Amino acid sequence: MTGNIILIGFSATGKSRVAPLAAQALGWEALDTDAQVEKLAGKPIPAVFAQEGEARFRQYERQVLMKALEGEKQVIAAGGGAILDPKNRERMRQRGFVVLLEARPRTILERLSQDPNSRPLLQGPDPLARIKELKARREPFYAFAHHTLPTDQLSLEVVAKRVARAYKAWSTPSALVRTPTQTCPIYVRWGGLEGLGELMRERGLGERAVVISDVIAFSHHGERVIASLEGAGFRSFPYTFPAGEESKGLETARRIYDFLVEQRAERGWAVVALGGGVVGDLAGFVAATYLRGLPLVQAPTSLVAMVDASIGGKVGVNHPQAKNLIGAFHQPHFVLADPSCLLTLPRRELVSGFAEVIKHGLILDKRLFAFVEARAPDLLSLEPPSLSRAVAWSARIKAKVVTQDERETTGLRTLLNYGHTIGHAVEAATGYARFLHGEAVAIGMTGAVRLSQRLGLVGEEVVKRQESLLQAFGLPTACPRVSPDRIIQAMELDKKIREAEVHWVLLEGIGRATTHHQVPQEDVQAVLQELTR
Ligand code: NAD
Repeated sequence: MTGNIILIGFSATGKSRVAPLAAQALGWEALDTDAQVEKLAGKPIPAVFAQEGEARFRQYERQVLMKALEGEKQVIAAGGGAILDPKNRERMRQRGFVVLLEARPRTILERLSQDPNSRPLLQGPDPLARIKELKARREPFYAFAHHTLPTDQLSLEVVAKRVARAYKAWSTPSALVRTPTQTCPIYVRWGGLEGLGELMRERGLGERAVVISDVIAFSHHGERVIASLEGAGFRSFPYTFPAGEESKGLETARRIYDFLVEQRAERGWAVVALGGGVVGDLAGFVAATYLRGLPLVQAPTSLVAMVDASIGGKVGVNHPQAKNLIGAFHQPHFVLADPSCLLTLPRRELVSGFAEVIKHGLILDKRLFAFVEARAPDLLSLEPPSLSRAVAWSARIKAKVVTQDERETTGLRTLLNYGHTIGHAVEAATGYARFLHGEAVAIGMTGAVRLSQRLGLVGEEVVKRQESLLQAFGLPTACPRVSPDRIIQAMELDKKIREAEVHWVLLEGIGRATTHHQVPQEDVQAVLQELTR
């Protein structure tokens, strides 16, 4: 583990005193930017303010912070005002894990009153009101922290331990995909995208990176990725294409190959796929095939891509006859999912992604299912800890399945197709225009659980629980006005194109799925009638 921890926060939140304790816990160095400023200026901070003015002080502060951030393995206590400068904030996020030490205004007042060094904050008739007002003004500047730690009533030792623990959780991959030839870590880091360049360096990737993205994902997140890469010493080559499934074909792949030829891309150049599943599949396919393989980094920005498409190494493009017909296996070097990207994702896309999270719980982990049930409102309001946990948990399930069955030979990976037999057919029968993939999967899962009930595998309560959760997320559980015959035709066509038998993935309970080849046609018919009524 490398990097830095940067402690930020209001006066008297303990930054300077926690830094050495946290550093000790990790075997790192501690550094206090205020102390460094005093050294540089050759006088105490109040004297710098009095004799040289605040602007000069901020310059010193920036200078020592930037210098400190060049190092590694340090816990840096950043001076209270360091966060006001956007360049400082950007660099802190690029070079480390930023922890906001938080305390209520009353706690701050108590701590300041016990401090023998008189602080200007205590002067004036109503210090509490002054603290509240100043703190409220600073609040928007603190929002860039990766992690917030309330410190009221905690000893400095406990705060330091929690800082070290939060860092370890943040820097450790949430999941690993292990294949016979490679291990691919999956990092889930709220606000982690600014650290992408450093992570690529840390993981031994070279000096050039081609960032492939669609225009929408790039417009939201491209700039900070490019800044991160360049901040870590990479030369970056961005390439964007129009968003949407229509772009996921050989024609766009060819244009990207042309771009790589123009740029004289060589072996060892990294390909960064920044976007949803379309970008991940397409950029991944190009990375798998150009010069027989370039290292790939998946930086998923949609929920579907974070918990599903970016994990497992399946990359590819569509053929006019069928989706995902042309492809390869190409495991990424690593996956970095930053759930804060979901703040810009359109609501319908977000909800569609939750169908995959719910699916992972349904097929393999009843605890994940219960977690999503309990936290539905938090997840829908994108509350950072719940969302990060759900993404990491769901990604872990996909990673586990892929590790055990990378090439879909043991049948385990097939379980991920829960809801897909009917779901794909519903998408095809409606011309891929009416439903997003996750919505179609939600309808497909509703069909599958009802089939499971008809076959006596589950009772009514499982059907109800699944439907209620899908509906709580606003996902469809029926597709009125679609002809059941057209759905059946689409299933038959899919079977013919892939020369495969229909593998029905059914439930035996929440968190337990199984595959069936023989499902009576009349049961399928009856369920489709129900779904399309
Ligand atoms: P998508 O890539 O088309 O993204 C959906 C939309 O959201 C696009 O318009 C995109 O520009 C936009 N978007 C993405 N991130 C955004 C963000 N942070 N803010 C604002 N807009 C953002 O679709 P998807 O649902 O992410 O992925 C679906 C694709 O993934 C399909 O092609 C599917 O075949 C593939 N997939 C692949 C696998 C696999 O194992 N390889 C698994 C599941 C799905």
